[in-house]
Amino acid sequence: MPELPEVETVRRGLQPVLEGARLVNVEARRPDLRFPFPERFSERLAGKTVTALGRRAKYLTMHIENGPVLICHLGMSGSFRVEAAGSSDIPGTFYHERSKSTAHDHVLFDVASTTGKRSRVIFNDPRRFGFMLFAEGPPDTHPMLAGLGIEPTGNALDGPLLASLLKDRRSPLKAALLDQRLIAGLGNIYVSEALWRAGLSPLREAGTIAGAAKKAKEQSERLAGAIRSVIADAIAAGGSSLRDYVQADGSLGYFQHSFAVYDREGEPCPKPGCRGHIERIVQSGRSTFYCRTCQR
Ligand SMILES: [Zn+2]
Repeated sequence: MPELPEVETVRRGLQPVLEGARLVNVEARRPDLRFPFPERFSERLAGKTVTALGRRAKYLTMHIENGPVLICHLGMSGSFRVEAAGSSDIPGTFYHERSKSTAHDHVLFDVASTTGKRSRVIFNDPRRFGFMLFAEGPPDTHPMLAGLGIEPTGNALDGPLLASLLKDRRSPLKAALLDQRLIAGLGNIYVSEALWRAGLSPLREAGTIAGAAKKAKEQSERLAGAIRSVIADAIAAGGSSLRDYVQADGSLGYFQHSFAVYDREGEPCPKPGCRGHIERIVQSGRSTFYCRTCQR
């Protein structure tokens, strides 16, 4: 499943094509993805200008002049492809490879840039867990987005704030970090990575790093920094892949090269001086990768 850094990379890849461009024609080639398309989907978009392409957690928000905001979610397997005269690019490469089968091209956006250059933005989604919905007002008030917690990007997420979110929580630290009402857009891969960077066990009770003791304060500070840095590093890697993807064949996900623990069961812990090995455990039905030697 694409995580926040992948979605941000997609946004940055689509931004130059979509922002300021006019949607000449929009076609949904089936009645639904995970949810039915909104009524009059194509009619309400065609002929309109895209004023901004934003992101909240793992949702893309396409702002339409004098129109609704189109909220897009990539689901498990969704991707966008941009086709211009003679070229085809998928913005952002993923840990799990994207489908290139045109049988799963479900939505077509024909766009014209301010200079008149035509291109086609295609949404492809073999498993159809993605969706597109309209927000009639500010997207943050839409039911899909209204309950979301703080973004793990930027400087807002610091030690004291993280401690306030985790205070008195008895659930395992990993489960609390995956709770989208607390931190929005943090997923399975980057939670494992952040906990490893911070040297904290995914199994410990979340509230234990939210106490008044000096040690708890250091731990919450360390974890907040680890979450921000792991996301920022992945977004930076995505950005460099965007610069490279013209010549890349798209078959290698760049993210897998930057994982320290995710999907590395049995390998030596990469932390300098640590002699432990990466283990895989299952928490709430999902894999967690960690080193029990240096993560306490
Ligand atoms: Zn270790």
